[in-house]
Formats: sequence, C-alpha cells, structure tokens
Amino acid sequence: MTKKITIAIDGFSSTGKSTIAKQLAKQLGYIYVDTGAMYRAVTLYAMQQNYISDSHFNSENLIIDLNNITLSFSFNESLGFAEIYLNNINVEKTIRTIEVSRLVSKVAAISEVRRKLVSEQQEMGKNKGIVMDGRDIGTVVFPDAELKLFMTASADKRATRRYKELLNRGDKVNFEEVLHNVQERDRIDSTREDSPLIEADDAIEFDNSDMGLKEQFDRIMSLVNTRLGL
Ligand code: C5P
Repeated sequence: MTKKITIAIDGFSSTGKSTIAKQLAKQLGYIYVDTGAMYRAVTLYAMQQNYISDSHFNSENLIIDLNNITLSFSFNESLGFAEIYLNNINVEKTIRTIEVSRLVSKVAAISEVRRKLVSEQQEMGKNKGIVMDGRDIGTVVFPDAELKLFMTASADKRATRRYKELLNRGDKVNFEEVLHNVQERDRIDSTREDSPLIEADDAIEFDNSDMGLKEQFDRIMSLVNTRLGL
C-alpha cells in the first residue's frame, strides 16, 4: 500500500490556502477539508438562532445548543470538492457572505466550539491521506502532520483577492470593508487565548504575495514527494 501523509495548511485570511489545498488533494487523491467552512457554518447557525449579530453575542446559548449542530461534507463531482452541509442543508454559498465573515472570528474564539470542531476534524483525518486547511491544523489538530505549510501574503494582496471573489459571486461590497474584515479577523484569530493563529515551529512558510499558483504548487509538490520518499 502506498504511504499516505497528513498535510496541514495554516495561515492568514485569504492567502489562497484552500485553492492550493484543493489542487494538492486532487493530485494526490486525498480528502480535502476546509475547516474555515466548519467555523463559518456554526456562525451561520448562531445567526439563524439569533445568538449573534453585529451588536450582541449570547455565547452561553450557542454553547448549550452545540449538540444540535451537525456538520457534514458531501463531494460535488462537478465542482471537484466537498461542499459543507449544516443539519443536512447545503450552506456552501451562504457561509461565504461578508455578514458571516464579520462574525466568524468571535464564534471561533469560543473554546467549546473549537473542542467540538477539532474532534470532528481529527476523526476525519485519522487514516491520513488528508489535506486540511485552517488556522490551528499544524499546531492543535494534527501536531504530528508530516507536512505543515504556513501561508502569508500582504494584507493588500489578500484583500484584493477576497474582494474579486466576492464581486464574482455578485456580492455588493466595497474594497475598504473587505480589507478591514481581513485585518480584523487576523487580529482576533492571532490574539485569542484558545489555539491562536501561530506558525508551528516545524512549518514551512510561504509568502505568496508575488508567487503564482503554478510555482507554489510545484514547490509544495516537491516537498510532498520528499515526505513520501519519492
Ligand atoms: O478559512 P476561513 O477564512 O474561511 O476561516 C474563517 C474563520 O474561521 C477564520 O477567520 C477563523 O476565525 C476561523 N477558523 C479558525 N480555525 C480554523 C479555521 C478557521 O479559528 N482551523
């Protein structure tokens, strides 16, 4: 049987983690898990139940209700990746709005939320052959991952990417708002007490501000091949 490894991709918001993770998973025939989608889906649930809005956050009620949240992924052949379902409803698109982006880091700072999602993530990766992206994958979820990448890029580059993505979806946003959101999420994610966004000691850093996708992919594949002994 061919050796399988765990690939952990962490880094700041909108650094292209999921794009590279999806490509790697496809090339290797591995499972890809977008853990940001899981935190976003819990946030969407909290918004639907009115536990959180821009002006309030009743985290106690969310914590009590966590057992009623079921997250699952289902592979979409035409898209080429797994979409996320919240209590059996496909929320892949709904979780990407700027409204969810504004609130997700507050929800992700709650330890009970993290405990639930981290254990589900560890279960999904227990047989290796997985590419997972997020903020704490190399530090908390899979500290023994064979390959850990840490992605960075300038805030301006990241906001520009995110802005284009949102415009392409037809969302009405302005650049300043997107830039502010990217910076604010990074601030909250990096300074929270539980599992802050930090680079693992053994992670390999990629600043892709000026690096094309092909170059990144080729470099990372050569790291993967070394880990696989190829
Ligand atoms: O990856 P994405 O930008 O969709 O993640 C949305 C948010 O989810 C992050 O800003 C962060 O607050 C939270 N998150 C996290 N830990 C992860 C993945 C995402 O706290 N492993």
